[in-house]
Amino acid sequence: IKRNPNESEFLQAVKEVFDSLIPVFEKNPKYMENGILERIAEPERMVTFRVPWVDDQGKVQVNRGFRVQFNSSIGPYKGGLRFHASVNASIIKFLGFEQILKNSLTGQPIGGGKGGADFDPKGKSDQEVMRFTQSFMTELCKYIGPDVDVPAGDIGVGAREIGYMFGQYKRIRGGYEAGVLTGKGLGYGGSLARTEATGYGTVYFVEEMLKDKDLSFADSTVVVSGSGNVSIYAIDKASQLGAKVVACSDSNGYIYDKNGINLETVKKLKEVERKRISEYVTVHPQAEYYEGCSGIWSIPCDIALPCATQNEIDKRSAQILVDNGVKAIGEGANMPSTLEAIDLFLENDILFGPAKAANAGGVAVSALEMAQNSMKLAWTFEEVDKRLHGIMKNIYQNSVKAAKEYGYPGNLVVGANIAGFVKVADAMIAQGII
Ligand code: NDP
Repeated sequence: IKRNPNESEFLQAVKEVFDSLIPVFEKNPKYMENGILERIAEPERMVTFRVPWVDDQGKVQVNRGFRVQFNSSIGPYKGGLRFHASVNASIIKFLGFEQILKNSLTGQPIGGGKGGADFDPKGKSDQEVMRFTQSFMTELCKYIGPDVDVPAGDIGVGAREIGYMFGQYKRIRGGYEAGVLTGKGLGYGGSLARTEATGYGTVYFVEEMLKDKDLSFADSTVVVSGSGNVSIYAIDKASQLGAKVVACSDSNGYIYDKNGINLETVKKLKEVERKRISEYVTVHPQAEYYEGCSGIWSIPCDIALPCATQNEIDKRSAQILVDNGVKAIGEGANMPSTLEAIDLFLENDILFGPAKAANAGGVAVSALEMAQNSMKLAWTFEEVDKRLHGIMKNIYQNSVKAAKEYGYPGNLVVGANIAGFVKVADAMIAQGII
């Protein structure tokens, strides 16, 4: 706390992890030695840089760029880039810290990193987004590479932004290093099923949690927050499994469609036209639109999938979900539930899939994209989806096993943190005090 004042999101993420590691330290004191905790909570490196660009009116704009290279003990740094007005050092560090254990859980050889800028792509022209991303990459390219650090997308960074960044990296560095970024377009090194991976993976994870209680997505009512990349493909997969998804949102408000959300309309509005979710009701007048985000959790549902942003479910929203009989929560977004909300879900025996396990499908398929790039081949959609499904089942099983082994059966927060941590800590111990 002394070393990172004012970094509330980062401190929240570290507290959640460290609290749940207590049973590991009790059983294996070696994990308290060698300065493991002090080292794992301190990034290996963090760069902050100026991103100047010229807007369509000819005015110079200046944003702040970040890249945190948090931990490389099990592989090159890997983690997305977020472009959102709220981005600051605390948010990048919380995301980078979470990424260490998430990447470990996937079973792939990838370390933890994250980056982004306080740039808001909303309302910017294509040309402005291109000028900004080119300026951002002109600096970032000094620190990344296919065997060093491999960024991907996150909030505000999709195929368009990755494309512009890849072009600029290639222009400056020369050669064709396809593996330097993931989430690329299919025509130039992208992997099939990467776009779908985080949303699909979250639903695969929740499906495993439900199965253990003889429950399923079929005929259940689902609420998904957000309407971006993760949300869209969570809605898609949940619907394929027979659920009725009745609500989704953006940062202005949410829609409720008791007949079930029409995904094609959401995709067109958000992926193609880049419009607000409020426009949904002009196409589907039977649906209702409400201003504000947190009201979405007052819609009764069996399964809630928060897929928008951090701390979107506080204690109050969690209580409403519990009172309305929610059976399972699957975190598609990073840290969408506050610590108090998580405690409330666990106290009430609600099935709870924590972010670093439930949303690890995106980075897992990114690692598959890196593998395909280095082998210079492309797998089919079915092949990648099958591997994703297998990885999510493994993450679930490993989290269940670790929770049981350390005396917290059924607690996937503890299980995922321990399963992710032990592998990284063992590698850190083996590699000495660095
Ligand atoms: P997108 O930018 O595609 O979508 C984000 C969605 O969340 C949009 O609907 C956005 O609304 C909404 N949102 C963003 N910020 C806020 C806010 N402060 N309050 C309310 N709503 C907000 O991002 P992704 O779908 O890629 O990411 C969503 C979450 O999933 C993030 O937490 C991200 O870190 C996490 N994640 C993403 C992965 C990926 O592969 N993309 C992998 C693992 C985790 P609006 O359009 O109004 O901004």
